[in-house]
Amino acid sequence: MENKNTSVLLIYTGGTIGMVDNGNGSLEPFNFNHLLENVPELKRLGFNISTIQFDPPIDSSDIMPESWYELVKIISDNYPYFDGFVILHGTDTMAYTASALSFMLENLNKPVILTGSQLPIGMLRTDGKENLITAIEIAAAKENGNPIVPEVCIFFENHLMRGNRTSKISAENFNAFRSVNYPALARAGIHIRYDRNLIYHAVSRKPLKPHFLMDTNVVVLKIFPGINQNTVHSILNIPGLRGVVLETFGTGNAPTSTWLIEELKDAIQRNIVIVNVTQCSGGSVQMRRYETGNKLAEIGIISGYDSTTETALTKLMFLIGHKMSVEQIKDHMDCSLIGEITIPATDAE
Ligand code: ASP
Repeated sequence: MENKNTSVLLIYTGGTIGMVDNGNGSLEPFNFNHLLENVPELKRLGFNISTIQFDPPIDSSDIMPESWYELVKIISDNYPYFDGFVILHGTDTMAYTASALSFMLENLNKPVILTGSQLPIGMLRTDGKENLITAIEIAAAKENGNPIVPEVCIFFENHLMRGNRTSKISAENFNAFRSVNYPALARAGIHIRYDRNLIYHAVSRKPLKPHFLMDTNVVVLKIFPGINQNTVHSILNIPGLRGVVLETFGTGNAPTSTWLIEELKDAIQRNIVIVNVTQCSGGSVQMRRYETGNKLAEIGIISGYDSTTETALTKLMFLIGHKMSVEQIKDHMDCSLIGEITIPATDAE
């Protein structure tokens, strides 16, 4: 490991990880200026670690696109001065932030590793220290002078996962995140073992291009047995609506009721982009597989392939935010921008 002169910027946005016991039995946010006092183990890594914290730190349920702009600004302003970045973030919306950042940090070629914890860093059984220390090691890891993982990732428990492939799957377990449709990029045991073939490397060597435009006129519509026309009609007629992530059954199926198809068709004719993702935690949409999915493809609903909902939603926010035409949005949804989806060679829809 090349510790000497390696520098990492640690950005604390808020969330459970940064809480310590205030001595009276209650938890309060940790002052990151005193990071090394609270986590003395970090000194032994030998890296130069600088810290920045959101003021005030926020529970990740309060994360908004403005928080993503702030993160993008911090990273782009500090980009030349650090080898890698670690973002400490509440677990609840970490997958949304990781997905959003993967699109907003174009040409990224340094590690941006998000982590957090289920128990505060100040508690005896905390998972926070290990997550923090390993995330810093990963953010600093280089081979022949180049960063090993130059992409936006989530590190949690023992897995390093591509950020835009990951979802929170447990409100209880230390092992709270999963990347079901893409293998872990590294596993941390006694050693951190990277799977180099799976890691994304930006194709171009262009400078980092930060983006600050996200449009929130989007919605997630989850289909369920018994969903009624009033509900669907109201959602698809929200004033200003531009994009819908339609969470369907299995490989991308929905009820065949005429009213549902007509409501969706009407929305598409009003230039609303509808992306089909599966409610299942793993697998991919294949709309042509069953008649119930085929009908959706026929009216112009586009496939989200094996995208997580978090990624489909933030990608729509990003593309719509950049004032693309409906056709451009569809084209960009139909390809992988930064490793967020896998389009099967044989049955691309
Ligand atoms: N509610 C907290 C948050 O997401 C939970 C956590 O940090 O794990 O900010």
